[in-house]
Amino acid sequence: MAKNYYDVLGVPKNATAKQIRDAYRRLSRKWHPDVNPGNKEAEEKFKEISSAYDVIGNEEKRKLYDEFGEEGLRPGFQPEAAREYKRWEGAQAGRQRTAEEFGRFHSYEDLFGDMFNFGRGGFSQTHPFKGSDIESSITIDLVSALKGMDTEVSLNKAKTCPTCKGTGVNPNTGLSTCTVCSGSGRINISRGPMQFTKTCPRCGGSGKIGKECPTCYGEGIIEGVERIRVTIPAGVKDGYRLRLPGKGEPGSPGGQPGDLYITVHVAEHPLLNREGDNLSMEVPITVREAMAGGTITVPTIEGQIRVKVPPKSQSGQRLKVRGKGAVNPKTGQRGDLFIKLIVKVPRTENEEALKAVEKLEDLYTENVRAGIRL
Ligand SMILES: [Zn+2]
Ligand SMILES: [Zn+2]
Repeated sequence: MAKNYYDVLGVPKNATAKQIRDAYRRLSRKWHPDVNPGNKEAEEKFKEISSAYDVIGNEEKRKLYDEFGEEGLRPGFQPEAAREYKRWEGAQAGRQRTAEEFGRFHSYEDLFGDMFNFGRGGFSQTHPFKGSDIESSITIDLVSALKGMDTEVSLNKAKTCPTCKGTGVNPNTGLSTCTVCSGSGRINISRGPMQFTKTCPRCGGSGKIGKECPTCYGEGIIEGVERIRVTIPAGVKDGYRLRLPGKGEPGSPGGQPGDLYITVHVAEHPLLNREGDNLSMEVPITVREAMAGGTITVPTIEGQIRVKVPPKSQSGQRLKVRGKGAVNPKTGQRGDLFIKLIVKVPRTENEEALKAVEKLEDLYTENVRAGIRL
C-alpha cells in the first residue's frame, strides 16, 4: 500500500503549490543519492519523494489524486466517466460517496464490477428475466362447459407499463447518450499496464439512457386489472387446467412474460348430469306415453331432438341416445345421452278417470311390490 503523497512530503492536504514545492526541494536535497552515497534507505526515500511530487506537484494530477486517489492516476482513467458514475452510483445508494471512500475502499473496476449485479429496472437492462406464472380459476355452468365458450377473465396483475411499454424509460423525453460510456456502450478499465473493456453497466451496452418513466417509476410494470379473453374448449370437465402462454406476469424488458393457468370449475346442473363422457337426465312422460309408446321432444346441448318411447315403458327406464353425450376434449369422441323416463300421473278427482284406473288395476299380473323385501 502506497503512502499518502501528502504525508510523504510532510505537507497538509490543503497545502499551496509553493508549500509543496518547498517541501519537495528540502526533502530531495536531504535524501538525494549524491548526498547519501551507498545509503539504500535514502535511495528509497528519494524515490518516494519524487513520486509524490510528480503527482501533487502537478496541478492536474493532484486534482485527480484528491478526487479519486491513486485510481485516478492509472493510464486510461476516465475522470469524467468516473465522476458521472460516482454521482449516479451515489444517487442509487441514496448518498454521495466521498472521494476518499472511492479511492480507499473501492477500485474503479470493483465498483463497475458490482454494478453488473445491480438489480432490475429499465435503466441498465442487463438481466432480462421471465415473468412469473399466474394461477387463476373460473366457474362455469355445465351447458357452457359442454358447448365450449369464449369469455373474459379479469385479473389483478402487474402489467407492462403502457407509457413506456416496459422499458422503464420516459418515452416523451427520448434517449440521450449515456454519459458513463459516452455512447460507445463500453468502458475502458485499466489495471497496471493492461487495458480492459467492459459492457457499460449503466446503459447495458446500448450507449443510450433515458429519463425514468413517470408512470411506473422506471419499473416497466404497473399494478392493474387486465381483462383477458379466454376460449374454453367444448367438453371440459371440472378441474380442467387451461394454459395461456405469455399471459402471466410480464418479464423484465427483454424477458419473456410468464404463463396464465386457469382451472375451470363446472357447476352442477339441476337436470343434466355428467358421468365420464356420458350425460343423463330425467324426462317426465305421461301414463299414455308410457303404456302406448310415442315420440317425445328432449332438449340437448345442440337443441331439441325427438326420441321414441317404446310401448310398455316403465318409470325409471333408461333410453340411450347414441352420440349425444359430452365431447371428450382429448379424443374428440362423444359419449351418449341417457334419458331416464319418469311416468307422471295426472292429479285428478275425475270420476271417469278413477273408474278407468280401476280397470287398469285388473291388468297387473303380479304384485307390483313382489320384489320389495329387506
Ligand atoms: Zn413506464
Ligand atoms: Zn453507457
